[in-house]
Amino acid sequence: MSELRWHPLLEEWVVTATHRQERTYKPPDDYCPLCATRPGGFPTEVPAENYEIVAFENKFPSFKLPPPEPEVNGDSLFRVAPAAGLCEVVLYSPEHHGTLADESITQIERLVRVWRDRFESLGSRPEISYVFIFENKGDVIGVTLAHPHGQIYAFPFVPPIVERELRASHNHFVRHARCLFCDIVTQERTDGRRIVCANDSFLAVVPFYARYPYEVHIFAIRHLQALTDLTRAEERALAEILKTVLVKYDNLFGFSFPYIMVMHQRPTDGEDYGHYHFHVEFCPPHRTATKIKYLAGCESGAGTYINDTLAEETASELRAAKGEK
Ligand SMILES: [Zn+2]
Ligand SMILES: [Zn+2]
Ligand SMILES: [Zn+2]
Repeated sequence: MSELRWHPLLEEWVVTATHRQERTYKPPDDYCPLCATRPGGFPTEVPAENYEIVAFENKFPSFKLPPPEPEVNGDSLFRVAPAAGLCEVVLYSPEHHGTLADESITQIERLVRVWRDRFESLGSRPEISYVFIFENKGDVIGVTLAHPHGQIYAFPFVPPIVERELRASHNHFVRHARCLFCDIVTQERTDGRRIVCANDSFLAVVPFYARYPYEVHIFAIRHLQALTDLTRAEERALAEILKTVLVKYDNLFGFSFPYIMVMHQRPTDGEDYGHYHFHVEFCPPHRTATKIKYLAGCESGAGTYINDTLAEETASELRAAKGEK
């Protein structure tokens, strides 16, 4: 059903998850499996009449504990490993219609605490090396359930993009005795042209090296590695800046803006990652109101992104977009 296959050319794992082909695909609104179960109604994933925020195990997981037996036997060239891990769904609101951008700052702050709790709880399991919190939003991203929700993948390994960032921040630390991310934050604040918005604890920029036209990275201003390092005031500040960025996205072209949101935190494999730095990345697929940036030959086949815009210009558009509904 599910296994890890080693890609010997890229030196990374590929997860097979054939059972996911059967997962619920765009059900009608009144058959949403993520709404609360109505009295006398069909049983949804949430056996309660109401909820604030819920996290539960994904019914169609890519990783499982204990993991299923791999379908095939591996060998030294074609390595196979069990897909040991956990996948969770996080429901942002009992309200079926709406998005994270519609939630109050208080509700987003609750969500930050849920993320923090899940990071801590999943990350404390010995099988888990990395807790990956993310959201896919919008039809163009391929979202199959409309109800506002995000996901958490608890990986049995450190995924390759994070591994590359860790290598880069480690190398920078060895060379300069400073945090790479702190240096980026300082340089973006000094320059100012790519800042989207900021508060006392977080800075949102279209980074100098943006791969997508409206890519936004939110950096903690203080040097910290994970949600569990945030103070109460920083949790609130994260909720505030998330809300502002999300509302700006929606006001940019006047429609609910699709995106991929990912959180990059330290791994939970017990090693020391003091050189790393917590941040949130948004990769929206739109390059204009009507055009989508597809990952085509150059991106998918060569790994090099072509960005049709300048970060300085798209940042100024986002800065001008209203940050309140
Ligand atoms: Zn729903
Ligand atoms: Zn730092
Ligand atoms: Zn990152």
